[in-house]
Amino acid sequence: MTDARPCPVCLGRTTRSIGSFAFGDWQDTSAADLGRESFLYELVACTICGHGRVVHPYGDAFITALYARPQGVEAWGSAVHPAPADAPYAEMVDFVGDAIPESGPVIDVGCGNGELIAALRASGVAPRRLLAIDFAPSLADVPVLAADLNQLDETTPRWTEAGFALGFCTHVLEHVFEPRRLLRGLRAQAANDALLYLEVPDHAPFDLARLLECNLLNAQHLHLWSLDNLRRLAESCGWTVERADSSFFGFVPRARLLLRAAISDDVAQSTAQLLDAQQDACREFAAALLAARSAGPVALWGVGGDLVRAGEISGELARAILNREFTLADRGLAGRRWNGVAIVDPATLATFDGEVWLTPRPARVRAGIRNEAGSMGLTRVVDWYETAIGR
Ligand SMILES: [Zn+2]
Repeated sequence: MTDARPCPVCLGRTTRSIGSFAFGDWQDTSAADLGRESFLYELVACTICGHGRVVHPYGDAFITALYARPQGVEAWGSAVHPAPADAPYAEMVDFVGDAIPESGPVIDVGCGNGELIAALRASGVAPRRLLAIDFAPSLADVPVLAADLNQLDETTPRWTEAGFALGFCTHVLEHVFEPRRLLRGLRAQAANDALLYLEVPDHAPFDLARLLECNLLNAQHLHLWSLDNLRRLAESCGWTVERADSSFFGFVPRARLLLRAAISDDVAQSTAQLLDAQQDACREFAAALLAARSAGPVALWGVGGDLVRAGEISGELARAILNREFTLADRGLAGRRWNGVAIVDPATLATFDGEVWLTPRPARVRAGIRNEAGSMGLTRVVDWYETAIGR
């Protein structure tokens, strides 16, 4: 089966069916004869990474109607499976524990009725540091921000100037259309080194008695997470995992991650240094060529990118080539001209009375030319790059 929306974890597009469940609602409960609107939710698993999700051809209007229904009383435990407390919000704050930063904004993305915000206040986080975010938050005593979490991405302007220091996003990722987009957006909202607590229902553990009490499969849950796939998604959106946990709270299975927004700048730094070093090598090569030409005739074997760049960096070298102060040789370009200067067949270098310099930087290309020069019996071959790079 294929779905128009790719898998949020691996971006794969092929799925296999898990099954389906029906749900619906009375159309008009004041009518004498009740009519019912029914839907079928198709559940599928990604064939590449196993991520579970709903195929929902219902559109935005359907989803809006779904959330307009009255939400029942929140329940985490029962007489059969009692929860350690009425609700797990204090435990969520405890999970972050000593890592709660001393300063900087603390945000709750998808704050609902403010239960987690209350737990943060109870743990000593000052109300002025808090920001409660939801589609339409209505909390007293703390700053609130209305945001469409289905629209958040990395181009959304920062909610807080310096980025949040600690974020919570609990029981949101199973509701949004594109969880990957949301996690990228949260990464862009985070200060460097910020922490993010992520919690979703965990669909991997199988404790049947608990799961039958829990309303795990319901119309609002578009994504069926496991701890493994939640971790994969987070790590591919610029987060590193500090803590991970899969556990029940009462009858509710939860996958929980404490993530850090760690900068991964290795590639940018090493590539910038490599670019500089390539430029430096090219400049030094041009200077060495000019010095060699002052000492006697020089032929250049290889008329390609590295020689062109050396001429671009050193105007003096470019002028010397234009003035035919070097003999240009190249197997593939023999007989052509470059800036009016003839390019000869390297075979003619057998009688050349001077040094023959190899111009390419990549070792593989120079090795080929050295072999050829060796079989021609050339003795005055200069492989400057090998000497310079090796020193
Ligand atoms: Zn996948």
